[in-house]
Amino acid sequence: MSSINGAVLVLSGPSGAGKSSLIHKIMDDIGECYFSISTTTRPIREGEKDGVDYYFVDEEEFKREIEEDQFLEYAIVHGNYYGTSLKPVKKALSKGKLVIFDIDVQGNSAISSRLGEITTSVFITPPTLSELQKRLQNRHTDAKEVIERRVKMARREIQRVSEYEYLLVNDDLDKAANKLHLIAKIARFKKSNEEINEFVQKWEDL
Ligand code: 5GP
Repeated sequence: MSSINGAVLVLSGPSGAGKSSLIHKIMDDIGECYFSISTTTRPIREGEKDGVDYYFVDEEEFKREIEEDQFLEYAIVHGNYYGTSLKPVKKALSKGKLVIFDIDVQGNSAISSRLGEITTSVFITPPTLSELQKRLQNRHTDAKEVIERRVKMARREIQRVSEYEYLLVNDDLDKAANKLHLIAKIARFKKSNEEINEFVQKWEDL
C-alpha cells in the first residue's frame, strides 16, 4: 500500500467485552480517526443500523465482493461472514487518520501481516468468563444458543491473546476508557519503514 501516513488500531475481544462502549467513549478525543465499518452476513440486531454498525448483506453479495477483491481481510465468525473493505481504509490512511478496527483474532492476524508496521493491537476482555456470560445474558439481544456459541468462541479467542500488544481488562468502563485513550494516542506515532526512510532521506538532504 503506497503513501500511507496514518496508523491502525485493532481492537479485538469477545462480543460483550464492551468494545463499542469504549470506542464511543474515546472517539471524540483522539484526533482524526476513521472507524472501519465492516460488512457482514449476520442478521441485523435490534437497535443496529445498516451503514452505521455494519453493512448488512446476504451471502451472495458478500461472495461477490470477495471475488472482486474488495476486502482487506475477511473471516467467518460464529458462522457468519465478516469483512473489512479495503477502499475506505486506504483513503483514511492516506489522509493521515487513525483507522480503528473492531475485528476478531483472525482479522488481527491478517491486518498485522499486511499493515503490521503501523498497527497497534489491543485485546479487550471482561475480567472473567462468568462475567462475560452475565453481560451477554443481560444484553437480551441474542438467543441462548447464540450466547453459548459466543462464550465457546471467547474461550478459544483468549488463548490467542499473546498475539496482541496490549491486554485491556474492562472491569470499570471509565478506567478502561482512560487506558484505551492513552493507547490510541500513542498508536498514531507508529511509522512505517517507508516513512522513516523518507524522513531520514529528507533530514540528510536539508
Ligand atoms: P458481532 O456479531 O458481535 O458484532 O461481532 C462478532 C465478531 O466479529 C466480533 O469478534 C468482531 O470483532 C468480529 N468482526 C466484526 N467485523 C469484522 C471484520 O470485518 N473482520 C473480522 N475478521 N472480524 C470482524
